[in-house]
Amino acid sequence: MSDLLDLRIYKLDKEYHGNSLFICREDFIPFSFGGNKARKCYYFLQEILNEEPDYVVSYGSSSSNHCRIVANICAKYNIKCVIISPKEKSKETFNRDFMTLFGAKIIKSPVNEVSKTIDTVINELKSKGKKVYFIPGGGHNDIGTFSYVDFIRRLDEFKKKNKMTVDYIFFPSGTGTTHAGLIIGNSMYGNKSKVIGISIARKSDYGRRVILESISEYLKNNKLNIKIESKECIFIDDHIGGGYGEPVKGVYDIIDDVMKKYGVPMDPTYTGKAFWGMERYVTENLIEGKNILFIHTGGTPLFFDYLGKKREV
Ligand SMILES: *Cc1c(COP(=O)(O)O)cnc(C)c1O
Repeated sequence: MSDLLDLRIYKLDKEYHGNSLFICREDFIPFSFGGNKARKCYYFLQEILNEEPDYVVSYGSSSSNHCRIVANICAKYNIKCVIISPKEKSKETFNRDFMTLFGAKIIKSPVNEVSKTIDTVINELKSKGKKVYFIPGGGHNDIGTFSYVDFIRRLDEFKKKNKMTVDYIFFPSGTGTTHAGLIIGNSMYGNKSKVIGISIARKSDYGRRVILESISEYLKNNKLNIKIESKECIFIDDHIGGGYGEPVKGVYDIIDDVMKKYGVPMDPTYTGKAFWGMERYVTENLIEGKNILFIHTGGTPLFFDYLGKKREV
């Protein structure tokens, strides 16, 4: 039987601006529409099952795939779930509908008071004698990082088995957890692919700093004696538009094209921005004759938000 987290890699196009294009369908991870948050949550779940908390508390906007999956896991294992959510990012979305369906309690807070609200909620629960398991927004900690270190181990096996090479890896980079994991994994497993994260929200200076911090924290906590140069962290911020969840010119066309040409759903917040960013990077840097891997990090419900909006226009 195949492993839940096996990599689902397919050739998408043998003529992609003179390259071969492969796609890793993280959205095919068979739980709650998959995605990188499903991969991360698989490892959080191992801890949750060990610790048997009364409550799982996490954080994210109404479009958060992470919160959907956390709420789904809690529903499955009958654990109470509290999601703290920024007031400013609370539009109606399918992910929010799912959180409600899964019975998560949503607490809205002004974005600048979020960490205070999280502390208050956790302290209140603890004072009532409840056991709480906290997952940072987006699964941004060492467990989240580990899930993509392990991704590279799996990629290494996949490449050997299929006698293939991967020259470039592109993906949407948000909190930087996935990005940090891929860079560490590259070093640990001697993987030579160039890892290029397309920022979906953060400017390069801040985004890179957070990724590099995640890397050094992971290496320190796991006592790994690996040297990672900061130049290995390639974080492109040309496609963030107005920031998280804000559209960028060109992305809608890319989403429509990718759906028509490849039958793959993407969304304007994450994968659409990244695919667009990859397209620009490959053409502007005249990359040719290479094997390119795009990691489809999930977000299928956001694709349907997008499709629904099109109907209204
Ligand atoms: C969260 C998310 C990302 C960003 O992942 P990080 O590890 O936070 O950088 C990318 N794509 C999708 C679909 C996501 O839900």
